[in-house]
Amino acid sequence: MSAATPLDAHALLSSPAQLPAVDKLLTHAAFQPVLGEHGLSLVTAAVRAQLERLRSRLRGGEALAAELGAPAALAQAVEADLRRQRAPRLRAVFNLTGTVLHTNLGRALLPDEAVQAVVQALTSPANLEYDLATGGRGDRDDLVNDLLCELTGAEAATVVNNNAAAVLLMLNALAARKEVIVSRGELVEIGGAFRIPDIMARAGARLVEVGTTNRTHARDYEGAITPKTGLLMKVHCSNYAVTGFTASVAESEVARIAHAQGLPLAVDLGSGTLIDLADWGLPHEPTVRDVVAAGADVVSFSGDKLLGGPQAGLIVGRKDLIAKIKRNPLKRALRVGKLTLAALEPVLRLYQAPEFLAERLPALRLFTRPQAAMQAQAQRLLAPLAAALGGAYQVSLAPMFSQIGSGALPVNTLPSAGLRIEPTEVKRAGRALSRLEAAWRGLARPVIGRIGDNALWLDLRCLDERDEAAFLAQFGALQQALAEDRAR
Ligand SMILES: *Cc1c(COP(=O)(O)O)cnc(C)c1O
Repeated sequence: MSAATPLDAHALLSSPAQLPAVDKLLTHAAFQPVLGEHGLSLVTAAVRAQLERLRSRLRGGEALAAELGAPAALAQAVEADLRRQRAPRLRAVFNLTGTVLHTNLGRALLPDEAVQAVVQALTSPANLEYDLATGGRGDRDDLVNDLLCELTGAEAATVVNNNAAAVLLMLNALAARKEVIVSRGELVEIGGAFRIPDIMARAGARLVEVGTTNRTHARDYEGAITPKTGLLMKVHCSNYAVTGFTASVAESEVARIAHAQGLPLAVDLGSGTLIDLADWGLPHEPTVRDVVAAGADVVSFSGDKLLGGPQAGLIVGRKDLIAKIKRNPLKRALRVGKLTLAALEPVLRLYQAPEFLAERLPALRLFTRPQAAMQAQAQRLLAPLAAALGGAYQVSLAPMFSQIGSGALPVNTLPSAGLRIEPTEVKRAGRALSRLEAAWRGLARPVIGRIGDNALWLDLRCLDERDEAAFLAQFGALQQALAEDRAR
């Protein structure tokens, strides 16, 4: 029997030879739409794969409905296959983990002003390194230099890819082949293999640890200074707290010690906020302005932590030192692209009108969202969710504690509220819980919660009211996924 034998819709396929040939299918009218969408090479590969799947089922002795081998059905299968294959890997999710700046979920969300600026930078040429006043070559840092100086009180600024890059660059530019004095209590490790001693080594500087884990004194810094010292450095303990019998030396004091010997002080501030968070009822963090005013000569901080902007590493400080940093070849290797600068500028501008910040900057809006808002939201979602979950799970409204995240303010939590889902049967509750978590993760817009105390916790702080309908609209699909899972 030839492969081109016309297929009878009521017959069964029993042999691979009954399947149509690839070239016949590709010229068939049913395939023209999918070819128009995805092109010849992808469709050819998908057709081959689809036919191979049918062939292997037939070889395995299965008898298949003849429709499965018909061009229309094959075109549909190929279309579905390609749509699945070509769906973006980077997808929007619901962050209900309770961690606002979740590094694994992309940290800060940006305001509309930044989104518009990025779209424009993506679709039009821009004066990224072009001086519109002179028609000569410009410097990309100039786009945000004045704003950063105004907001921090520093003389100059530069921008690189992230704060890890900023620290590496700062150390290499200011202390290569020299000694850098750091307190033992500040040798931090940030998630993702960023450790001060390792970065120091890669930057070509020699770490000189002073003091002890819990206590470092001014005399420790003073006693460690030698002719080989290039820099004194303070690192903000952003993701841990040293409490109890402790002592550390304030930036102003370390600056005084450094300056007495003609040395600069560098500060890795980590999160680096531009405002006093206490004004918004949040825990106090030292601001970049405070640290500059205390005498730090260069300060580095992240763009996408408390600042609420795009991923970036910002360095502000003394004009001569920033100029030296900018001349370093690593600056070229670590520089930011136009999308980062496009997003950063409008975010920084929002800080010029702090009275509107909590409403205009998404990160601050989320930090300051009142517990009552999440409670009301949980109340609205409770009944529909209970209906979708059925008898196997029990859902309740629960108070929760959100975290700022990204290592910022690790010991402080923000009172929040959300939904707590528990398996009804205690037997095999762990399995039921991981199935539930997987079902949420498998949705078109995956929902990421947190498992603890034999329950799945969905903290609603980061569920924007504008997204609530879209969240609710997935409950049907969740119910279906759980039903399919039970049937399996
Ligand atoms: C977060 C952090 C870094 C790294 O910053 P990224 O922007 O994530 O690269 C470096 N140092 C400290 C103290 C930090 O908190």
